[in-house]
Amino acid sequence: MNSQKNNNTKVYLYNTLTRSKTEFVPLNPDNIGIYVCGPTVYDYAHIGNARPVIVFDVLVRLFRHLYGDKKVTYVRNITDVDDKIIDVHQRTGESISELTSRTIRAFQNDMSKLGNKAPDIEPRATDHIAEMQEMISLLIRKGNAYEKDGHVLFDVSTNSTYGKLSHRNLDELIAGARVEVAPYKKNPSDFVLWKPSDTNQPGWSSPWDQENHPGRPGWHIECSAMSQKYLGDTFDIHAGGVDLVFPHHENEIAQSQCANGLDSFAKIWMHNGFLTIEGEKMSKSIGNIVSVRDLLRENSGETIRLCMLMTHYRQPINWTTKSMKQAKKTLDGWYSSLKEFEGKGQKTEVPKKFIKALADDLNTPRAISILHELSSEQKKRPSQKNRDNLIAAGNLLGFFNFTPQEWFDSNEKNNNSEIDVLVVEKKILERDKAREAGDFSRADKLRNELTKLGVVLEDGPNGTKWRHN
Ligand SMILES: [Zn+2]
Repeated sequence: MNSQKNNNTKVYLYNTLTRSKTEFVPLNPDNIGIYVCGPTVYDYAHIGNARPVIVFDVLVRLFRHLYGDKKVTYVRNITDVDDKIIDVHQRTGESISELTSRTIRAFQNDMSKLGNKAPDIEPRATDHIAEMQEMISLLIRKGNAYEKDGHVLFDVSTNSTYGKLSHRNLDELIAGARVEVAPYKKNPSDFVLWKPSDTNQPGWSSPWDQENHPGRPGWHIECSAMSQKYLGDTFDIHAGGVDLVFPHHENEIAQSQCANGLDSFAKIWMHNGFLTIEGEKMSKSIGNIVSVRDLLRENSGETIRLCMLMTHYRQPINWTTKSMKQAKKTLDGWYSSLKEFEGKGQKTEVPKKFIKALADDLNTPRAISILHELSSEQKKRPSQKNRDNLIAAGNLLGFFNFTPQEWFDSNEKNNNSEIDVLVVEKKILERDKAREAGDFSRADKLRNELTKLGVVLEDGPNGTKWRHN
């Protein structure tokens, strides 16, 4: 790509660290570094996991457009050592390496179907144990971490800026709640850098082994070690879901800044908002977890992607059947306006106002309304130029990967076997509630309704699962 991008567009981003939206100035415009916290691989990705992937894919696409393809390094890690992974392995007997490899493949596949480009580097935690151990040793030498009973802990009282990201008070964090503090901790908020493993848990030998028992890293140290390896001591943007602000990102800052001896780590911290399903928090106990895989059975990846981007990334998003239908209708409208002229057309510039919308802290709702304008303009006054503009803008957001013909053909296929995943999940939820309340006739009625929709229910110890008949 062009190394001298004509780039006059100013980008403004909201920084969680300063709680303000400011102009983005790259540390080095020739190599912009972005690190996004990736998945813990023990199960299929749910729609909440997809939000940061889609949102920060848009950020990377915008930056590549503005600064040039080769000027951005996008790193998204894979957490493949974690207690949740060990739990699944112990419950199902599937080996950890099989479980994680299979889940990683599924994740990459699902995310690509949602129109996301793969990151430039996708490091796995278990490939970076040496880097983590090195950073832990350094933190011990510098007096920021201590060893106790086979554990290594970060001592938050040694880091005077601890709490700066989540805007918490260090003294309160040090005092903490005095309930059930692990005996090996000096302060309740001290967090694990390394911990001992049992014989049936994965472990690596380390300087902190007790009686030759291997151990494993805590979660936070992995992102500090891997971001440093691939992006350096300081880099432009670190991102993830808002649920990671505390403690994960706060702890990353503490580790990295104490290790690198600098007053900075990532310059800008970006966080996407929460996702609820039909107004409820997604949870295993409620049984309303919607996997990307299930959604993709009945919906195009573009529909799911548009549904996600209709809400600004910092706002909470309420995922509903209604909003999915709206997204589908919108795409049908856009694709039908593309029918008038065929072919890819001339390569054209993406309309400036569209770029400007995205450059304003990724204002995708505004960008989408500009796509509406372009589409209705094309319907009123069809021209190759209008069509090219609409395609160029849509492509930048990850849309129009099909011809109109392909789009409407695949719709027909879907309509013939339509099971609305969200409706199914909602009915299952209602049925669970009815069963809990002892209203078994209502529960049976709901089961019958689901059977009519072609859904088979399987009740198990972890809640109700469903499959197509
Ligand atoms: Zn992380």
